[in-house]
Amino acid sequence: MNKPVLLVVDDDPQVLAAVRRDLRSRYRDFYTVLSAGSGEEALATARELKGRGDALAMVISDQRMPGMSGDEVLARSRELYPLARRVLLTAYSDIEAAIRAINEAHLDHYLSKPWDPPEEQLFPAVDDLLDAWQAESLPEATGLRLVGHQWSPRSHAIKDFLAGNLIPYRWLDVLRDPDAAKLLVAAGVGEDELPSLFFPDGSVLRNPEPPQVAERLGRSLSAAFDLYDLVIVGAGPAGLAAAVYGGSEGLRTLLLDRHGPGGQAGTSSRIENYLGFPAGVSGSELTRRALMQAQRLGAEFLAPIEVAGVAIDAGYKRLALADGREIVTRSLLAATGMAYREHPAPGVAEHTGAGVYYGAATTEAPAFRGRRVIVVGGGNSAGQGAMYLSRYAEEVQIVVRREGLSETMSQYLIDQIAQTPNIRLRSRTELVRIEGEGHVERAALSSLEDGSVRVEDADAVFIFIGTHPRTEWLPPAVLRNAKGFVLTGRDLIAAEAYPKLWKETREPLPLETSVPGVFAAGDLRAGAMNRVASAVGEGSMVVRLTHEYLALT
Ligand SMILES: Cc1cc2nc3c(=O)[nH]c(=O)nc-3n(C[C@H](O)[C@H](O)[C@H](O)COP(=O)(O)OP(=O)(O)OC[C@H]3O[C@@H](n4cnc5c(N)ncnc54)[C@H](O)[C@@H]3O)c2cc1C
Repeated sequence: MNKPVLLVVDDDPQVLAAVRRDLRSRYRDFYTVLSAGSGEEALATARELKGRGDALAMVISDQRMPGMSGDEVLARSRELYPLARRVLLTAYSDIEAAIRAINEAHLDHYLSKPWDPPEEQLFPAVDDLLDAWQAESLPEATGLRLVGHQWSPRSHAIKDFLAGNLIPYRWLDVLRDPDAAKLLVAAGVGEDELPSLFFPDGSVLRNPEPPQVAERLGRSLSAAFDLYDLVIVGAGPAGLAAAVYGGSEGLRTLLLDRHGPGGQAGTSSRIENYLGFPAGVSGSELTRRALMQAQRLGAEFLAPIEVAGVAIDAGYKRLALADGREIVTRSLLAATGMAYREHPAPGVAEHTGAGVYYGAATTEAPAFRGRRVIVVGGGNSAGQGAMYLSRYAEEVQIVVRREGLSETMSQYLIDQIAQTPNIRLRSRTELVRIEGEGHVERAALSSLEDGSVRVEDADAVFIFIGTHPRTEWLPPAVLRNAKGFVLTGRDLIAAEAYPKLWKETREPLPLETSVPGVFAAGDLRAGAMNRVASAVGEGSMVVRLTHEYLALT
């Protein structure tokens, strides 16, 4: 297999030679650096690479060129290599155009000319982008392959686990992909053993559960210590931020998640409003960075581990794990966020995992290439899901009960949706039934204007409505409001049960619950802002507060 390619495009031969020289000086051991003097030549090179089956990792293009402009080259290269990172090379005077191109052509980055010294101005950005590219793309013939039925909930669970844990894999649908049958025959795997996971060394896991996959991939599922200073339950943005600070500030910190890292944010195809990522960042990329940072700073991470309950024992918190084991800690952060509520329409429950998915747009979208899908919900998560699905599906319908999206979705997403020809908004409409033999085939949609019901063909329904806080594992002594969100800090003092429950001579610390040393941060907390940044902020604060609590005990 040839080395992956970095392709540089510029009509100025001097600039082209300089970029090529700098890139070669650093990346030549692992990448081939190719150059093109025009957009047309660059696309011809990309087509040639594609024809040979070579990987293209990055395209760096000058913006101002006669003929095809840089943003157009980058947008068109995406059709050939959707995962390649795309960088615009601009003069300082063109930075506004570059920012516009980030929005319109979904570029990953822009670099200003001149980039001297490259060690500061060029390599850090390129290193980052190549890391992200590597994390997403595995050469087709190597790596993990998952073979199963598209409509099997068990296949979906393993796909979701691999994607959620940032493990690249190739999905082979047994009914559509000829390679699947070859693999099954060669390994002697029967239909009743699907889904099966094929490893590069030729070994196979037949019909596995996620913990078996984790163990086979060499992930530890056992805590390293008998006692922790801080255990964080939930590795969404709040939990990951607490793990970064806990690790860096010397607390013995353990982060647990029932699924994998990232939480709701990890399922987002593009977070555009998180500080420091001017081109937006995918949830999986943000998660990959955050987890790496937390582990590098000393936090321990285990997944999939579900916490089923907590007992308080002389100030120690004893966590009961769903698999029967126990972990003991001096302080605890509940950061278990929110989950989608089940949609009550008939047909939804029996098709869950077989065409009905809660969130999961990024995991399942490629399987619906050229098909018709429905997105139920009008929040930002639904908008991002619809945008991502529109890259693959022939038609995406967004079904909402309200008049429009303006009350529930950010304007930047409303604008993107309006400009996407294969997305159609169905306002004042409700999903009332799902039909199909073994998988979703049709959806019944009811108009809230006149009550009429239309049954329409649909291959999948992605549900993004009705979230509820995940607090069922917390003991009753952790007070919640009427909707089940956890009360913290001064909000507790107004609660009726507070005087009975709180026996300390001090007031609860901010973000502390009604049980001393048990903190809550992020979406499961009453009054939370439901944003990545606010969850990260709260998770970070908890570590300072944990120090205060531990100093009191
Ligand atoms: C598709 C989508 C797009 C979004 N886009 C944006 C955006 O662009 N900008 C923005 O600011 N916000 C966005 N949000 C909102 C943002 O993602 C959330 O506010 C944020 O993720 C909340 O973080 P959290 O850490 O509180 O909880 P969560 O992200 O909900 O994470 C909770 C974690 O706890 C784990 N868990 C639950 N129960 C247990 C248990 N018993 N044991 C162990 N682990 C458990 C779960 O597996 C999960 O990983 C989006 C949300 C979604 C769904």
